Amino acid sequence: MGHLRSIARSLLPSACVLCGAECTRAQICAPCDAELPRLPAQRCAVCALPLPSGLVCGACLDRSPLYTRVVAAFAYRYPLDALIQAYKYGGRLAYARLFGDALAAVASHDVDLIIPMPLAPGRLAERGFNQALEVARVVSATTGIPLQPLACRKVLETPAQAALPWKERARNVRRAFVCDADLRGKRVAVVDDVLTTGATLNELSRVIRRAGAVAIAGWIVARTLPRW
Ligand SMILES: [Zn+2]
Ligand SMILES: [Zn+2]
Repeated sequence: MGHLRSIARSLLPSACVLCGAECTRAQICAPCDAELPRLPAQRCAVCALPLPSGLVCGACLDRSPLYTRVVAAFAYRYPLDALIQAYKYGGRLAYARLFGDALAAVASHDVDLIIPMPLAPGRLAERGFNQALEVARVVSATTGIPLQPLACRKVLETPAQAALPWKERARNVRRAFVCDADLRGKRVAVVDDVLTTGATLNELSRVIRRAGAVAIAGWIVARTLPRW
């Protein structure tokens, strides 16, 4: 049934979610897609922040994150910020496909399994869905890389990172996660919607490493970039 529905959807023209132009097989038309904010070509091989020269930025050299690298489909700027807000809080669940397809297109496929960033049970009940899991489902279906939605859990209800100063974000998520899976020798991709300081990804990476994973990639829909 889902298959038939997706065939029907791909045959019907639909409107671009940004400009309203008719487009088939996509939620964003080609001209709008070409204008979406992406990461600069010159960036840190680990955290993906802009880096005019060299491979790894000073911050990652000083203090290696517990994740191996970050891959992001977009920069977290207009209109991505608006699309992600509409997806998370405005009931636009269909954007999971748009985000997942874009992420699958930029992700390297040298990973063994995908783990979505877990949501604490209270937050999940409030929102009704895990925004990272719905994107991860699309990425998994597109790439064929297996999804392990239950490998990790968030056991602490923490205040939203966005509400906190950067310096407090690492402390806010400390010991927030547990990993119940045996990940010995595995290369893991963690899917999440937005990455800013990387504190949450780093903390989840701590338990994934403890479970035996040898590499952890953050696959992010949109990465915040410094304003300059
Ligand atoms: Zn358009
Ligand atoms: Zn870096």
